[in-house]
Amino acid sequence: MHQHQGHHCSIRHTRQHKVRLGTRPALLPAAVLLLVFLASCGRPVMGKDMSQGKDAAFYEETVFTPEAPKNDDPMPAPVSKTEQAHVPGYSGTPDPLPTIGPENEPVKTSEPVGKTMPENTSASSPVPEPVPSHTPMPSPAPSPTRTAAPSPTPQSQQLQGIVNPYVPYTYDQMIIDCQELAETYPEIISLDVAGQSVEGRDLVLVKLGKGEKKIILCGSHHAREYITSSYLMKMAEEYAKAYHDTGSYGNYNVKDILDRACIYIVPMVNPDGVNLVVNGPDHVGDKEAVAAMAMLRKSYREWKANINGVDLNRQYPAEWEKKYDEIGRPASESYKGEAPSTEPEVKAMMELSCANDFILAASFHSKGNVIYWADRGTVDLIPGVKDMAKRLSKLTRYSLMPVSEDPSVYGAGYENWFRLEFLRPAFCIELTPYNNTDVPHDDRKFDKLVWNNAKYIGLFLADEALKR
Ligand SMILES: [Zn+2]
Repeated sequence: MHQHQGHHCSIRHTRQHKVRLGTRPALLPAAVLLLVFLASCGRPVMGKDMSQGKDAAFYEETVFTPEAPKNDDPMPAPVSKTEQAHVPGYSGTPDPLPTIGPENEPVKTSEPVGKTMPENTSASSPVPEPVPSHTPMPSPAPSPTRTAAPSPTPQSQQLQGIVNPYVPYTYDQMIIDCQELAETYPEIISLDVAGQSVEGRDLVLVKLGKGEKKIILCGSHHAREYITSSYLMKMAEEYAKAYHDTGSYGNYNVKDILDRACIYIVPMVNPDGVNLVVNGPDHVGDKEAVAAMAMLRKSYREWKANINGVDLNRQYPAEWEKKYDEIGRPASESYKGEAPSTEPEVKAMMELSCANDFILAASFHSKGNVIYWADRGTVDLIPGVKDMAKRLSKLTRYSLMPVSEDPSVYGAGYENWFRLEFLRPAFCIELTPYNNTDVPHDDRKFDKLVWNNAKYIGLFLADEALKR
């Protein structure tokens, strides 16, 4: 059923990516649910309890807050410090020390025009066990050794190992984790680089699997949603560990799936933006330039765009001209750019997607526990996508959004472009429950916010790809 039609990629200028295959990349350096859903991503859930890493102040709603916050006004620069790992061999922009400021009052903002309303309502509930239709499972055993089986207690942090998703996830840490994962599971994980960000950080590509049939998963198009990066990294680790140990994960035969499929993962599409969110404006390459951009939220913790102030999920050449742009100039979010695919991160994702025969794609965002699965223009041209979306919804208990009707609302996202370009399934998955803020979630609640519902998504999608 699957055809390899040679499509013509709409990439304007093609760059060669640096290909650094291997395990030691010296340079290898995340309410309309009630009301409105933006081209993605609503807002977060703040916790009070503590764990490792950042202290409580990090999760307050206004750290890195410019002095006189005001919509559309340039921002003065903010504040303080914390330690951060240095990445040996990393030659990109130096990643400075994080800054943690005091708190302010909560930011109340209304999201711009959003997408549509969910069809059903099952967001954020306990996780159902998946029942993949075709891959038989040898051992029903859950995860082995270090990782205990999915814990019934959401707050119990049982996921152990290399990737620590319970603290704000940084680019530097991701690089370190990638190297360790590749060294620990060389039989199933390899690393590559899909391109570079504006500030020169590598857009790391984790290849998980040995098979011919490929799918692509990506996270953190939006800076403040970096929890999607730690999620994808944890996914890679858990699947690799299961592959190595028991061959099974939940009800999935991970051995069989990863022998026949390969999951390409770009955990952090927007590393410069994540750096700003997590480390603060003192650590960006051009602080003045960032300060001159429009701030649509009060703090840098709520930044979504890349470091050029372009919203990367409004940049793809898919109905870009029709895409609504309420700001029209470089900003913390919502600016679609002067033209489609001007940003290096977007170009890299397009090149990667065109260079590989991905059977399907999923782009991860945060806040909403919903799945965007189709646009009006392409829904009838992608066979089986609705059934797949329904199964994914059942697996995750995330609600399915209605087919997106209006290009001025849905246009120019990665998933929209992928559907249009390849006429294959592409999902925009909003992990985590919607809450009333725009600051990142409390990472200490990773299990409850993300993992319990989303841990099987990668295997589900790879399994689906094998059927097509
Ligand atoms: Zn988003």
